[in-house]
Amino acid sequence: MNQPRGIYDSERACLQHPVRRERTRLFGRQLRQLLDAGLELLFPSRCAGCQRVDTVWCPECQDLLDAIPFPARQARAHSPFTALACSGDHNGLLRQALLALKYENAAQLAGPLGNRLASLVTGLQWKTDFLVPVPLHPSRERERGYNQTRLMGQVLAQKLCIPLADDALYRTGNTRAQVGLTRRQRLENVSNAFVVNAKRVQGCDLLLVDDVYTTGATLGECARALLAKGARSVFGLTLTRAVSPANHGEGNPEWM
Ligand SMILES: [Zn+2]
Repeated sequence: MNQPRGIYDSERACLQHPVRRERTRLFGRQLRQLLDAGLELLFPSRCAGCQRVDTVWCPECQDLLDAIPFPARQARAHSPFTALACSGDHNGLLRQALLALKYENAAQLAGPLGNRLASLVTGLQWKTDFLVPVPLHPSRERERGYNQTRLMGQVLAQKLCIPLADDALYRTGNTRAQVGLTRRQRLENVSNAFVVNAKRVQGCDLLLVDDVYTTGATLGECARALLAKGARSVFGLTLTRAVSPANHGEGNPEWM
């Protein structure tokens, strides 16, 4: 039987000759690097803090980030958390850096932000067995290409010398984005949205991490689900804590 000719032949030739296949692979990588360089020329990186060109995060903004104090008082110990902490309010430089990580594809910002979380947890002397990042809705993660909380969590887990567990907590339900919902609507939206791998969490002390604490609906639902499946304790941690008109008045009872 005759094989179709043309592109198929060259592909088959590549399959048959490892040297050619390697050359094609290298050419593909070079082409990608060339495209990246071209895009960088047309749209140079800008610092997420000060908009300086040619870097996503400059040393001066790092110094300013280091100078932002952690909140003097963290949350009261209350159910479902053994303790709850955030590294600062959701405004200024901290917010800018997080938004760049989240929406501008600036994955490199996970480094400085993850390190900030590590300094906070080290100071609080929390002892946990492993880190659980709050999962993104699968369609949101596909769209973005990554989970920003997981990226920060990788840096944090490495600093704390604990593992990061991807197989402990899954998001299932068709929850919609929490933006613009009241506290009550957020609670309804995330109830039963998470599934826990009981074998993974039983008897363990967990460090549950999310990017922003708004009403606490998501973080609380995750913690309750983990405890219901046998986790011994859950320490909640977020990069920032938002105080917005949406939850003002209805209160964030857990924060002092
Ligand atoms: Zn800067």
